[in-house]
Amino acid sequence: MKKKGLLVVLSGPSGVGKNTVCDQLLTSYSNLEYSISMTTRSPRIGETDGENYHFVSKEEFQTMIANDGLLEWAEVFGNFYGTPQSFVDRRLEQGKDVVLEIDIQGALQVKKKRPDGVFIFLLPPSLQELRHRIKKRGTEDDDAMSKRLEAAKSEINTVFQYDYTIINTDIQQTADWIYSVISAEKCNVDRV
Ligand code: 5GP
Repeated sequence: MKKKGLLVVLSGPSGVGKNTVCDQLLTSYSNLEYSISMTTRSPRIGETDGENYHFVSKEEFQTMIANDGLLEWAEVFGNFYGTPQSFVDRRLEQGKDVVLEIDIQGALQVKKKRPDGVFIFLLPPSLQELRHRIKKRGTEDDDAMSKRLEAAKSEINTVFQYDYTIINTDIQQTADWIYSVISAEKCNVDRV
């Protein structure tokens, strides 16, 4: 029988660099599968439907929830985001390791449903650096930025519910550490 793949959940506060790290991880380690989320937010310049996200209407999103089609979902800063269940299940069955890059509310839902996953929390080097990163992104006004920083402070308290925490100082280094965690977990005697 083929061995099932590993479910890897990458989370952390907004602005910590989850998306950039995840891109680097998938570029450096092409054997990993990325779970493309569904979202009701509009595409940003340069984003492609079916590649970055499945961009859907609120109605389509609600239908997915009603049909039990999402492994987890959350409202993040006014938009809905969720992980299509069937893709994850199919890939894991095929023995592929699947990476979810999701917010903290979603990660904690997955943890309840799939405690056998590997849960990794990305931390910023400092709150000051987090503020700097959010500001550099330039998508938030002062009010929105304060809200994100406040949210980040309470989100950081959930770190102890994760298996690993990595301070994201250097993108490539963080991606390499995540891959080391995945490689080690695949050799974990409880899993083999
Ligand atoms: P953005 O709109 O900047 O792409 O993402 C906003 C936030 O939504 C990020 O924290 C990102 O990790 C999170 N996110 C993306 N996809 C999902 C998902 O499928 N589920 C959950 N819970 N959060 C997601």
